[in-house]
Amino acid sequence: MIVSKFGGSSVAEASQIRKVKKIIESNSMRRIIVVSAPGKRNNKDEKITDLLYRCNDEVENGSKTKSFNIIRERYTEICKNLGMDDMSEILDEVESGIESGKGPDYAASRGEYLAARLLADFFEAEFIDTAEVIKLTDDGRVEESSYKALNARIKGTGKFIIPGFYGSNSRGEIKTFSRGGSDITGAIAARAVGADIYENWTDVSGLLMSDPRLIDNPCVVNELTYKEIRELASIGANVFHEEAITPVKDYKIPINIRNTNKPEEEGTMIVTDRDTSKSPIIGISGKTGYRNIFLEKLMLNRYPGFREKFLLLLNKNNIFPEFESTGFDSLSFLAPENQFDNADSVISDIKEQLNPELVELRPSISLIGVVGSGLPEQIGVAADVFTALKNKNINVRFINYGGSDITLLVGVDTDSYLDALKAVHSIFGGK
Ligand code: ASP
Repeated sequence: MIVSKFGGSSVAEASQIRKVKKIIESNSMRRIIVVSAPGKRNNKDEKITDLLYRCNDEVENGSKTKSFNIIRERYTEICKNLGMDDMSEILDEVESGIESGKGPDYAASRGEYLAARLLADFFEAEFIDTAEVIKLTDDGRVEESSYKALNARIKGTGKFIIPGFYGSNSRGEIKTFSRGGSDITGAIAARAVGADIYENWTDVSGLLMSDPRLIDNPCVVNELTYKEIRELASIGANVFHEEAITPVKDYKIPINIRNTNKPEEEGTMIVTDRDTSKSPIIGISGKTGYRNIFLEKLMLNRYPGFREKFLLLLNKNNIFPEFESTGFDSLSFLAPENQFDNADSVISDIKEQLNPELVELRPSISLIGVVGSGLPEQIGVAADVFTALKNKNINVRFINYGGSDITLLVGVDTDSYLDALKAVHSIFGGK
């Protein structure tokens, strides 16, 4: 059995939904279809999920859901162009649900709910409401019982349409995942039915070696491992929701990222292991906007628990470092710069409580990650990266390798980020 998840662009309008139908019908193993809410049709358009959050804000601010009309029109137009009856009754129900103040999670989840109801009719498939089967704990984890419950609903030989992005909590209230979370629903469904493949259909032909908005024509990565995609995601790559790896990884269900607009292309396979001999490095990703909080204290190793105290103090001020590098007498943490709004008071807390020789918040830096399972055995990767940066006269502000042995992380001034990314991409881009 194949679980096929279609993202927002694949269900944005009737012509896209017809492509989805063709894809589903071309392989009888595609029986479980998970859908997102309709996304943007063009740059000026708004995503249905964004509109739904806005409707909820309107209700919270005491007015009627003015934006619901735009949503109503989008679904009505899709129905019309597919030659189907309109969904006015279900749309009315959803609108009054939002107006009754059921909150942001309920409102946001309705984009997927409506899309799944619509597609179930159009494909003559059975609709399964995820709120009935995917149960979430209060801290947002998926209850183990969800897999069994979903599996029990898959009977016979027909097709099933499942809305992505939400489940319900122990009180039966709708709870959404974080944004882009329909990928997680797809992964849950894949594990629940023991799928042979989890297909993730989107509008790009797989994972690209670098960000196509910044680099011209990066090549498609044919195959990479779960671990590699996690590493790429942690430093900016975002084709696939990072939390969606968890349900399928232990069950070794391969994930295939594919393009609804070019179904003839094979896309990217995410697997447990791969042969690294041909392409030791598979991706270069980057993330801008970090600050480095740097501290020096002589004989640091004589103060047990010092690092933990420093971290705790940062956490208490809502600063959650993502990367670090430690010296004999110094500690250096990188955290997103938007967490440093109260920088002055944090610095004075640190001075007061930890009494360091020096503590300073350094200017904005950006990170570039070179990722590949072949990295540990490949000689010269770091040398190539630093030579490329040197040739462009780019100063290196931060280095981390070993925290993960498949990622070489380099920090540069944010001003030089784009040049640095291009320079690093030019070494590995074609391989
Ligand atoms: N519709 C949700 C969002 O826009 C979830 C998803 O598309 O995966 O974030």
